[in-house]
Amino acid sequence: MNRNFVAKRVETMAESETLAMARKSRELKALGKDIISLSLGEPDFDTPEFVKAAGIQAIKDNHSHYTPVQGYADLVDAISVKLKRDQGLDYGPKQIVASNGAKQSIANLCLAVLNPGDEVLVPAPYWVSYREIIRLAGAVPIELSAGHASGFKVSAQQLESAIGSKTKMLLFSSPCNPTGSMLTEAELREWAEMLQKYPSILVVSDEIYEHIAFDQPHLSMATMPGMYDRTVIVNGMSKGFAMTGWRLGYLAGPADVIDACLKIQGQLTSAPSSIAQKAAIPGLLAEPSAIGFMVDAFKDRRDKMYEAIKTIPGFVLSKPPGAFYLFPDISECLRWSWDGKGIKDAQDFCSLMLEEAGVAMVPGDAFGAPGCVRLSYAADWPILEDAVRRIKQVIERYHAIG
Ligand code: PMP
Ligand code: GLU
Repeated sequence: MNRNFVAKRVETMAESETLAMARKSRELKALGKDIISLSLGEPDFDTPEFVKAAGIQAIKDNHSHYTPVQGYADLVDAISVKLKRDQGLDYGPKQIVASNGAKQSIANLCLAVLNPGDEVLVPAPYWVSYREIIRLAGAVPIELSAGHASGFKVSAQQLESAIGSKTKMLLFSSPCNPTGSMLTEAELREWAEMLQKYPSILVVSDEIYEHIAFDQPHLSMATMPGMYDRTVIVNGMSKGFAMTGWRLGYLAGPADVIDACLKIQGQLTSAPSSIAQKAAIPGLLAEPSAIGFMVDAFKDRRDKMYEAIKTIPGFVLSKPPGAFYLFPDISECLRWSWDGKGIKDAQDFCSLMLEEAGVAMVPGDAFGAPGCVRLSYAADWPILEDAVRRIKQVIERYHAIG
């Protein structure tokens, strides 16, 4: 019988490569294989005690009912306080909506503002889910590439050259997943100045790694001249507060856009989890220094991991100022001969490393950067050191340089 229950929009959708690699690692581990997974972008820390305590209290206090669609009023207040404290920006209750993770926030937003055929500028390398969420909304991602030489950052001129009559949105993250790059104040200003000529473009600034910044302060695009009224900030508790499983993200932006997101959320999920909302409140209200110990640990690993990865033959990389990823270019390795292993792209390279070194990482293709791989360094240093040693061993075993 000829049956196909699956919609075309799913058939043409790529699986999330980060989650796929995490799944493969789990499957191999379940088979008893010794796998070091550097594939998934999530802090290896547990949720801080004061946040957990608020979640437990919320259960005891019977916060087990539907909440307002945008989230409890005290959560919305806490988000507003946080945005004033860290970004110096004023957002009222009509300008904020919390969702089940920043991923859902981005999906709500894209469904709320994009019409079929609209174009979205996506500087590459970009976070894996942007492309598929944009496509799910019927819109078209327009990728603009930046490589190592430019610190993985596209220029204002590059962005401008891709703007046309269909351009509706610009979507980017800083600190960036997967490269860890961060836009400087001068670069944000250049983008903002250029964008003044194109007032119909909505700017979406994904700031979920804002606290994980080592060498320069994080700055929001919404603070740039002329940008507040046309920028939507995306943020969430997953990275800064090690709350990936709680699923709590949020948007802050113009009231009409937020209202449209509320309509979508009201029909799709009603609201984020009541318990996660209550747990997030003390996290949002805590000074960023409360999570300083995690940021210090990430910085220490970044420094050590950078030095270690540099010594792997064929790996070319720069030291990223933020997030918890390294994004080496391994194009050189793809030119080598690999003793019949057929390594033609980063995908093959990652498969080889998973099978032979027991190290999981994500091919750059998933982030719009073929020839690169992403390694998450959200793991203890001895584990990271072991991963580097294993990768080197496999390279020594199979390839003939030159
Ligand atoms: N944006 C970026 C740049 C991310 O890396 C992630 C996930 N790591 C998200 C959004 C989504 O985060 P979450 O849904 O866990 O809040
Ligand atoms: N965003 C994280 C990552 O890039 C977690 C996985 C996901 O949500 O895709 O690995």
